[in-house]
Amino acid sequence: MLVGWVAGWRGIRRLFTNLDPGENAMQLNESDSTFRSIFEQIKSIYSNVCQNITFIDPTHSPEKPESDLVNANIKFDEVLRFTDKTVSSNDGYPAADADGFTINFIRGGNPASAIFLKSSAAGITENDSPDLYWLIQTLFLHHELMHAQDLKLGKNFNLANKTVDLVKAEVYADVKTLRFFDNFRKDGGEPFRNMYATGILGREKSPIYTRIFNGIIKTFPQARLRAWASASLISPENNKNPTKTHPAEL
Ligand SMILES: [Zn+2]
Repeated sequence: MLVGWVAGWRGIRRLFTNLDPGENAMQLNESDSTFRSIFEQIKSIYSNVCQNITFIDPTHSPEKPESDLVNANIKFDEVLRFTDKTVSSNDGYPAADADGFTINFIRGGNPASAIFLKSSAAGITENDSPDLYWLIQTLFLHHELMHAQDLKLGKNFNLANKTVDLVKAEVYADVKTLRFFDNFRKDGGEPFRNMYATGILGREKSPIYTRIFNGIIKTFPQARLRAWASASLISPENNKNPTKTHPAEL
């Protein structure tokens, strides 16, 4: 069902050559046109936001974040733990089975982030479909990078009192990711955007995700998300692996 979805897709190269050269200066290798290279280029676009990106085993079970950082060889002084008192553990926001998560920490007096991605994206391995695998990993990566950016900007994370507005932080990451790929829809971003809309619509209807969804549709109305998702070859109805990406330790 998934094979060939992106194989015939043209224009991915333009997505990245048309980015603002000031902020996103990069060289595109002529022979490097796979989705994996897109993933690598997103990494370099946001290298000032986060340079710690680690793949972990799909069976990874949550450990202390300190252990995750040590295992990934990431130096840190202190792990940052943000709380949101308005969100209870009954709201359906489990960190345990996230496909991607971010650990925030202090190093040299400054806040920094480490992104962890499971080496099976929404249940799809690289062997199943390399293009789809890297497409989804790219979306997960962008989502987590937006959390790292949010922390750096101090928009929804309050470093002074270690609090976060969890719903707003998730809405921020989702809206920024949708907007990034929508901005480049004519230059190859459309399948990314459509896939992301599919993921949003396919999420479970828990209280927390309902609040996040209601925040997203203030920017991208539900009808538009549905139109985008319907153009994706994986429809919400067929999405048996609802995507969950969010920062841990919140
Ligand atoms: Zn998130």
